[in-house]
Amino acid sequence: MKIMAVNAGSSSLKFQLLEMPEETVITEGIVERIGLDDSYYTINYKGQKEKQTFACKDHTKAVEKVINDLVGKKILSSLDALEGVGHRIVQGADCFKGSVLITREVKETIRDLSDLAPLHNPAHIMGIEAFEKILPNIKQTVVFDTSFHQTMKEEVFMYSIPYEWYEKYRVRKYGAHGTSHKYVSEFLINKLKLKESKIVTLHLGNGASLAAIKNGVCVDTSMGLTPLEGIPMGTRSGIIDPTVVSFMGEKLKADAKTIVNDLNKKSGYLGVSGISHDSRDIEKAMREGNRRAKLALDIQIKRIVDYIGSYYFLLEGIDYLIFTAGIGENSEYIRTKILERLSFLGVVIDYDKIKVNREFLKITKENSKISAFVVPTNEELAIARDTYKLITNK
Ligand code: ADP
Repeated sequence: MKIMAVNAGSSSLKFQLLEMPEETVITEGIVERIGLDDSYYTINYKGQKEKQTFACKDHTKAVEKVINDLVGKKILSSLDALEGVGHRIVQGADCFKGSVLITREVKETIRDLSDLAPLHNPAHIMGIEAFEKILPNIKQTVVFDTSFHQTMKEEVFMYSIPYEWYEKYRVRKYGAHGTSHKYVSEFLINKLKLKESKIVTLHLGNGASLAAIKNGVCVDTSMGLTPLEGIPMGTRSGIIDPTVVSFMGEKLKADAKTIVNDLNKKSGYLGVSGISHDSRDIEKAMREGNRRAKLALDIQIKRIVDYIGSYYFLLEGIDYLIFTAGIGENSEYIRTKILERLSFLGVVIDYDKIKVNREFLKITKENSKISAFVVPTNEELAIARDTYKLITNK
């Protein structure tokens, strides 16, 4: 059965087509710059990358382009050969505890949550409706970045703020990257056949978050109402004193929205180093002696270790640490620096293994009190699995 995992953004539509339940990737691609005259469509098929420019005025045109191309290339034998589409949804708030089939009510709820994710949820709806227009009979599902975190206790997800802000405006911690935290923790639990486990997952990509997971259930995560909370990232500050917003607003004669935008887009690695949001550029600059590049990494590593410390207490110990996403899977330096800070807890690094990238591998020695692993994440597969389950009732 052919299932497509889709990530629709405001100006892009990314997809992966999988054969399920075999879990093989058939092809993947992206339409970028939707809404402009020079949109492009890229597809990877059988090791070949093909790129075309075309005028793509909206998401419906993008879906039409993708589906026509897949049929044209005979990747899909006909329009009916695609049996399910699963969409990644950034914000499901406390309305969705798991993935669901799309109905009119589900769509309405996602739309209603748009003020919590103004850049994402409306774009997801555009993606869903584009598929409805092009393939009116297709079964579609939604997989939420927030649902894995719905098991957090009230004392964990509530902020200590006027209670009406929560009641009236839903202000609380929701978290993000839930699909990834769930995927990598389940992967390890299944691989090691764990009955009981205290796991901390480190999803370190351009966006980055941690989760504390007890026996497969999320008990805390570092992102909050929005992805700005938590550790410093490529362009995000992570936690700061909120007074910075009004203080810098006065200094720059800017409104809160502008300052928060700077905290989201001009902070983190980019803000501190002044060089780049990309960890590869930052590590290179640090190796060449750039002080601010090193500082950007030092701040992030320090804050990551702070979270691990707090989760150590929350979980009453940690058995396993999992590194994942672009940086977690690829940066020997960051993995090593974090684990070295934990040596006083009895963490013993395997310096040969920790060099290896993008592979499921244990990177600590047998006598290490906490075992650390690299587990490559696969959010598309997680979406395809949930979609397959929901549409086949398995
Ligand atoms: P997102 O999905 O949030 O955009 P990714 O998980 O793709 O982020 O991670 C992007 C980050 O991972 C960047 O900082 C990039 O430098 C880093 N990264 C990706 N590939 C590599 C690599 N091969 N070596 C080192 N870092 C990498």
